[in-house]
Amino acid sequence: MELNFGLQNILFLAAFGVAIYFFSKNFGKIWRNINLGKDVNRSDRPKERWALMARVALGQSKMVKRRAVAGFFHVLIYVGFILINIEVAEILIDGILGTHRVFMPLLGPVYDAAISFFEILALLVIVACIVFLFRRNVSVVPRFKDLKGWAKKDGNYILFIELVLMFALLLLGATEANIEGNHVDGWIVSAQLAPLFSGLDQGTLIMMERAAWWFHILGIFAFLNYLPYSKHFHVIMAFPNVWHSKLEPSGQFSNMESVKKEVELMMDPNADPFAAPAEDAAEEPSRFGAKDVMDLNRIQLMNAYSCTECGRCTASCPANQTGKKLSPRKIMMDTRDRLSEVSNVIDELGQFEDDGRTLLDDFISREELWACTTCNACTEACPVNIDPMSIIVDMRRYLVMEESAANPSLNTMMTNIENNAAPWAYAQADRANWINE
Ligand code: SF4
Ligand code: SF4
Repeated sequence: MELNFGLQNILFLAAFGVAIYFFSKNFGKIWRNINLGKDVNRSDRPKERWALMARVALGQSKMVKRRAVAGFFHVLIYVGFILINIEVAEILIDGILGTHRVFMPLLGPVYDAAISFFEILALLVIVACIVFLFRRNVSVVPRFKDLKGWAKKDGNYILFIELVLMFALLLLGATEANIEGNHVDGWIVSAQLAPLFSGLDQGTLIMMERAAWWFHILGIFAFLNYLPYSKHFHVIMAFPNVWHSKLEPSGQFSNMESVKKEVELMMDPNADPFAAPAEDAAEEPSRFGAKDVMDLNRIQLMNAYSCTECGRCTASCPANQTGKKLSPRKIMMDTRDRLSEVSNVIDELGQFEDDGRTLLDDFISREELWACTTCNACTEACPVNIDPMSIIVDMRRYLVMEESAANPSLNTMMTNIENNAAPWAYAQADRANWINE
């Protein structure tokens, strides 16, 4: 292994350091924002959680469940992303140590086979990116139609960046194949592309090879720092997000411990209403339900950063399909947008101070909340186990318990339960009247 440390390596180390510094800073901010949420225990049954993460996040099982074509191309990009990173690891080592293809002499023929595999993968990723760009911009699939502004641009930028990075990787091999003294004959795609550059002189080829190398790695550094601003952050967050999935049956609601205690007290004829609260008694929450993002729990906030904006939830939502003003994808995007707004206030003032805005009303309307049928189809459809319904339910809890602002039809039902012990507007004595008919 020949070490050749020089100005290039100093520049590389500087670029690497800057990229890692800014990424860590932004990642730290997102972690802080997630921790603004309420504590929730989602670390029980670890074996089940690891298995779930392996199946859903690593194995992409929900991606191919219903939309096989989109799922297949997504898996291609995902596998390409993971495996091509092995080559990126080599580029990093070369950049730091001043070596050239440091793994090549160590791995021999295995190296050639691996590079050939990466190159084929890069070609397939290019095809997948073109298909996705087509689906987003030309023959727009219905679930992308309501993506406008930044959300639409973000999806396109990511695909474009991936395209360019893959082209740079292929250009690297193709130019290298023509440089004297290099042994790259066994690289399948490079060998096919090499004749395109065979007429160039050695100086130009070396310059092109170096340009492709730098472009590729600087592009990756830039991409890394773009992630925290993009829905593409899910490539990182999908793993902890799936690990922290709700393992109970998806329709099971969480009890509010303090309210449950109150009800138990009311139902127990022997309870002493003036007794001092037990030491392990649940504290009364500062707010019932959720009005703003800080009232949600940490997993719900992590959900917001894990959303891929794919729209599978909205496409499965019966409320959305029947023309109601509800999109579970929008619920997640709104939660993330509000959290970013809160984050900016904290960055500016050192702590959060009321900015006169809340997730409720400023981002998510009451009409949207009451349009939900709580069917759970959104959670079921989500490829990374996000639970938009839990946010809707918590915000409804706030409306009912803090503002007594339930939907009018619900108010009628609750009054009936209170008066008649049933949701219908009949006196208890009339309940069996239907038998007479
Ligand atoms: S739970 Fe609500 S938001 Fe989710 S799919 Fe059903 S109706 Fe839509
Ligand atoms: S919540 Fe899930 S299904 Fe819905 S847009 Fe986000 S990632 Fe896709």
